[in-house]
Amino acid sequence: MLQISASALSDIRVRAEASYPYECCGALLGAIDEGSVTDEAGQPINAVRRVVETLPIVNEAEVARLIDRFVIEPEQYLAADRAARAKHLDIVGFYHSHPNDTSRPSEFDREHALPNWSYIIVAVAKEDGAPRSGTLQSWELSHDREVFAEEPIEAIESPESPEPIIEAPSPKGN
Ligand SMILES: [Zn+2]
Repeated sequence: MLQISASALSDIRVRAEASYPYECCGALLGAIDEGSVTDEAGQPINAVRRVVETLPIVNEAEVARLIDRFVIEPEQYLAADRAARAKHLDIVGFYHSHPNDTSRPSEFDREHALPNWSYIIVAVAKEDGAPRSGTLQSWELSHDREVFAEEPIEAIESPESPEPIIEAPSPKGN
């Protein structure tokens, strides 16, 4: 299950539309609750990944193929991981857009995915002359890497910045 803040969802849609007709991609930053239920292989099956913000990543796929695939280089992954840690967050998955296509993962997507992460895909197409994001789905790869199954998404409130603590002025005299 993937929980994602309304602001992170909106960031993904805005970038998908701005990058059209090319794919956009980025990391999903947040926290993972591994859950307590495991399968026979000891892998968690009820993990909850919570996304609080997104981190755009430059799509390194060769330009000619930018419309149907995304590639994240190892150095980009490490930089994203450092950025996440600096905010006391973890990478919980990745997102990318599918211009003029559905939000289902391609064979390329499945071959390049890893278990234990969420993969959000958003469809984007031109509507009345302007790119408009459409269906958005999250996918999770099985541990044998054979099946990319849809993962339920739950939108959560965007985290608010903590209220500043205002100390009451100490009474002077009476
Ligand atoms: Zn894709």
